[in-house]
Amino acid sequence: MTSRLEALDPIVGAPVIDQLRRMADRLKPMRLVHINSTRIGGGVAELLIGIIPLWNELGIDARWEVIQGDQAFFEVTKAMHNALQGFKANIGKPMLDHYIDINRSNAEKLDFEADFVVVNDPQPAYLIKFLRSRAKKWIWRCHIDASRPDRKVWRFLWEAVRHYDASIFSMPGFARNLPHPQYLLYPSIDPLSDKNRDLSAQEVSAVLDRLGIERDKPIILQVSRFDSFKDPLGVIEAFRMVHAHTPCRLVLAGGEATDDPEGPRIFAEVQEAAHGEPDITLLLLPPESHYEVNALQRAADIIVQKSVREGFGLTVTEAMWKGKPVIGGAAGGIVLQLRNFRTGFLVNSPEGCALRIRYLLRHPDVGRRMGKFAKEFVRNHFLVTRNLRDYLSMMLLFRSPGEDDRRPGRTVVL
Ligand code: UDP
Repeated sequence: MTSRLEALDPIVGAPVIDQLRRMADRLKPMRLVHINSTRIGGGVAELLIGIIPLWNELGIDARWEVIQGDQAFFEVTKAMHNALQGFKANIGKPMLDHYIDINRSNAEKLDFEADFVVVNDPQPAYLIKFLRSRAKKWIWRCHIDASRPDRKVWRFLWEAVRHYDASIFSMPGFARNLPHPQYLLYPSIDPLSDKNRDLSAQEVSAVLDRLGIERDKPIILQVSRFDSFKDPLGVIEAFRMVHAHTPCRLVLAGGEATDDPEGPRIFAEVQEAAHGEPDITLLLLPPESHYEVNALQRAADIIVQKSVREGFGLTVTEAMWKGKPVIGGAAGGIVLQLRNFRTGFLVNSPEGCALRIRYLLRHPDVGRRMGKFAKEFVRNHFLVTRNLRDYLSMMLLFRSPGEDDRRPGRTVVL
């Protein structure tokens, strides 16, 4: 059977795979643990699903641990997430105490010894307080835009984050003032996953038929958790402006993440905004609908990701990989991915979004050209092999740091 690394070879080239093997060889034997708060839903789970098997193929003993929490815990962590992205949060001391208690009880259950632990996002950040001695190096991987956080919430998190040996952010602008080195690593997608692998035209059509989506008009698609930062209401507003003059369909597809309790409320608001418009289809997809999302992205004529705040926006990367023209909100990592008129369009309002949708509907040739550039841009910068290489570089730097790499607060671009 072909290994995943071998299957990646024709996509990224043999030298890339050889380099990963050589770097990993220098680190072996090595035990690595990634920790986050959900196995399904959202970009972090998506990333870990792709990267863990590759670590193991490279001979690194990698595990993925997920912390368990109750409804109250995920309410606090969602409020924290919102506050770190700059929104007002009302998080009282009992809530923070509960957050710490859940981290403590998870620490009692987790069983590992490791060389490196990568703790993803705020939910498990306090584990280090109880498990420090289990691993040689603790890395905090922040996937969200924490550039303008609520000060009180950041202060609380900082109490844990400052004990880490390093942190990783997705963009230079997200890095914080911390007493340890900070690394900048772009997230990535796995081109072999059900979410991203090639599908035949028949496979795509079969999924669309099953989901009841007609292909009689151009399809505009946004795939996202139902979350106000993803601005589904803004997408509907933009769509209505275009739809008044140009035939098209809008599909808003979203699922639920087990660590996001706000979904049902936002979905109800979206249902109300879409009410009475037969050309809008809302899909509440079950978790693990990777194949369906893949087919929807391939069937779409235009893909929108109108986020007003965004960590990176893997849905943008996925759409670009499928050679689609993408219109994205000028937020977070979307700005790194979309270059106006080259790899996509950036917008700041529903009006701007409508303007770009209309333009792409009128100029499908421009959309196709943008899609081609977009795919090559992803191949060069945002595939899982590049992410692995950056992690390996960071780990090698830890093994034999230069004088400068030990400097607290240093930001390292890999
Ligand atoms: N996703 C999915 N089903 C859904 C909604 C989202 O599989 O109904 C996936 C999407 O394809 C992407 C990830 O979840 O891989 C979302 O990552 P992104 O960085 O765009 O946003 P996040 O949810 O992490 O804020």
